[in-house]
Amino acid sequence: MKGLCILGATGSIGVSTLDVVARHPDQYRVVALTANHNIDGLFEQCLTHHPEYVVVAAEEKAEAFKDKLADSPVSDINVLTGAEALQQVATLDQVDSVMAAIVGAAGLLPTLAAAKAGKTILLANKEALVMSGDIFMRAVKESGAHLLPIDSEHNAIFQCMPGGYETGHKAKQARRILLTASGGPFRETPVEELHDVTPEQAVAHPKWDMGRKISVDSATMMNKGLELIEACLLFNMSPDDIQVVIHKQSIIHSMVDYVDGSVLAQMGNPDMRTPIAYAMAWPDRFDSGVEPLNIFDVKQMDFEEPNLERFPCLRLAYEAIKAGGIMPTVLNAANEIAVDAFLNERVRFTDIAVIIERTMAHFTPDSADSLDIVLHADRQARIEAQRVIEGLLS
Ligand code: NAD
Ligand code: MG
Repeated sequence: MKGLCILGATGSIGVSTLDVVARHPDQYRVVALTANHNIDGLFEQCLTHHPEYVVVAAEEKAEAFKDKLADSPVSDINVLTGAEALQQVATLDQVDSVMAAIVGAAGLLPTLAAAKAGKTILLANKEALVMSGDIFMRAVKESGAHLLPIDSEHNAIFQCMPGGYETGHKAKQARRILLTASGGPFRETPVEELHDVTPEQAVAHPKWDMGRKISVDSATMMNKGLELIEACLLFNMSPDDIQVVIHKQSIIHSMVDYVDGSVLAQMGNPDMRTPIAYAMAWPDRFDSGVEPLNIFDVKQMDFEEPNLERFPCLRLAYEAIKAGGIMPTVLNAANEIAVDAFLNERVRFTDIAVIIERTMAHFTPDSADSLDIVLHADRQARIEAQRVIEGLLS
């Protein structure tokens, strides 16, 4: 029986994880659940899964949550609050696996703490890895933690790697990764119409049901940019050996091209419970609840090269990983600020790339070999991105 901590339990990935957990009560026990604001969702999860610990990260919501719990059948749950408590529950002795499913930089410190404590990390929170890069990968190596990708593409690549493969290593026989992308909702929208896109249009993804931030990232293709950087780190590959492929049906979730000419693909219905179940059962497999793929319904699969003029965010991600040092941290921070401003209707959809590019231009790729340097670069990039936004608004 493995003990599980879910960081970001109330989000899209968190909910899918609990759906998988409920199918395997003999294999997983929920030790800790965390959420930010959504205390109603968290309370319902507590009634079903009865964890030992809960963290309400937003301190102003903690009292209301405790009141709900007090008169409930699960009043014995330990309630903690604040960002530090996330690290505490991610490193508890009774936790074996940590699902890192907080969105954005807020997930870095608890996920890194879990890595340092040698836990098995089920990594959905790609921003945490992108911003801390080698520091994160080193922490995993030094503690002997297992790092298993949840992002569907990286999970697919991991499944296509040679037997016994562990992330962080280079598989010498693999010469190229083909990283698939759906292309998002604006794959065919005329470029001149993109600046009128509203947040509602941007978050309505054609193939995947996800949180708002990653949905906007999918629409700009910054999601693929972050995933490119994620793939370089997880699979120890150069960005030149990773080809982004637009595959609008989202049936193939990525491919590995081997030196002998074999190309291995992982396929399935687009449902995050497949990669979640794979990582949870690894190195075995178990039921995820996902409908079997009906290959006759697929009929056709298309593959296109992405257009970097339509998707400048993808170009910026290539530039950031090639420049190295703190640039991926800066890219990620500027993107988080820009997406937030777009979702709050302060800037236009097409301003997102402008804000990131202007923010990046303000920085040089200094080496990122300590956590302090990374956290400082993250803070400075957020300040600079806000300054760029004020400039656009004036
Ligand atoms: P979401 O917005 O649905 O959920 C985010 C979760 O993080 C919530 O539980 C929320 O309470 C928590 N959270 C947010 N801010 C927080 C903070 N400051 N402190 C503590 N907790 C906080 O997001 P999601 O779609 O589930 O995505 C989660 C992560 O997984 C993201 O990094 C995303 O890129 C990645 N991911 C998601 C999908 C998907 O299909 N949804 C696929 C691949 C990767
Ligand atoms: Mg993905």
